[in-house]
Amino acid sequence: MSGPEILKTVSEVRAFVSGLRAQGKTLALVPTMGALHEGHLTLVETARKQADVVIVSIFVNPTQFAPHEDYAAYPRTLDADVGKLAQVGVQAVYAPDATEMYAPDFSTKVLVSGVSEGLCGASRPIFFAGVATVVTKLLLQVLPDVALFGEKDYQQLQVITRLVEDLNIPVRIAGVPTVRNEDGLALSSRNAYLDEAQYKTAICLNKVLFAMAEKIKKGGEAFSSVRTWGTVELEKAGFEKVDYLEIMDAKTLTHPVEEKAGGLRILVAAWIGKARLIDNVPA
Ligand code: AMP
Repeated sequence: MSGPEILKTVSEVRAFVSGLRAQGKTLALVPTMGALHEGHLTLVETARKQADVVIVSIFVNPTQFAPHEDYAAYPRTLDADVGKLAQVGVQAVYAPDATEMYAPDFSTKVLVSGVSEGLCGASRPIFFAGVATVVTKLLLQVLPDVALFGEKDYQQLQVITRLVEDLNIPVRIAGVPTVRNEDGLALSSRNAYLDEAQYKTAICLNKVLFAMAEKIKKGGEAFSSVRTWGTVELEKAGFEKVDYLEIMDAKTLTHPVEEKAGGLRILVAAWIGKARLIDNVPA
C-alpha cells in the first residue's frame, strides 16, 4: 500500500482537491493536531464511510494556545502519524507550517459568541477564537463535503457547527462519539503527561460523569446537588483544580431551564499536575 500524499501548502492542497473533484470524488476532512491515537483513527474510519477520499490535517495551531500553555511541549510525531494514517487508507495528509497558515501580517479572527463563551471559553479566553479561525481557514482551503470532529471536544464541536451555519460554509459537520480506553479514560494526546499515580486519578473523571448522568436519569435530585456531589468526588479522587463541572443544554451549552434528563450534556475540565483533562457525557 502506498502512503498518503504529504501536502505542505495551500496551493498543493487546492491542486490535490481539484484533481479529485475532476474525477467526481467526494472528500472528507479530519482536522487534528497530530500525536495520533485510536480516537483520531476512529474519526478517519468514520470519514472513510462518508466520502471517497479522506484528508487528515496535522497542524499544532499556535493561535489557540495562550503564552503559558503547552504549545512548545505539545507532542509532534509527524512520521509516526503518517505511518498510522497509511494503515487506515488516508489518501492525503495536509501538514502546513505555521508560516504557511499565518503570514506575518495576518490580522483576521473568527469570533463565535454565545456557545464559545462559557466552559473552556471562560478558563481559556483565546482558545476558541484560535480554533474557529484555523478551522475556518482549513475548511476554506480544502472545501470538503464533510468535516469530522470528536465529541471529546464537545464545546468545540458546537462552536464549529455554529460558525459553519453562520458563515454559510458549504460543508457538513459530523460529530463522532468519544473513544475511551479500557478504564473509560477519553483518549487524548495530553494523557502522555500523566504519571502512574496521576493516571489513577484521571480514570475517575469518566466514572464521576457517568455516575452524575445516572443520578440525573433517576431523577429526584436537584442538578445543583448532583453537581456539588460530582465536584466533591473529583476532589476526593485527587484532582487539584476543577475549572468547571456543568450540566448544560446539549446544543446551546447554556444552563438547562428544566431539571429533567434528556438533551443534556455534563462537561468537565479538571487539572492533575500539568495536565488539564476534559471530558463530557450525555444525560
Ligand atoms: P486534536 O488533535 O486533539 O485537536 O483532536 C483532533 C480531533 O480528534 C478533534 O475533533 C477531537 O475532538 C478528536 N478527538 C480527540 N480525541 C478523541 C477521542 N478520544 N475520541 C473521539 N475523538 C477524539
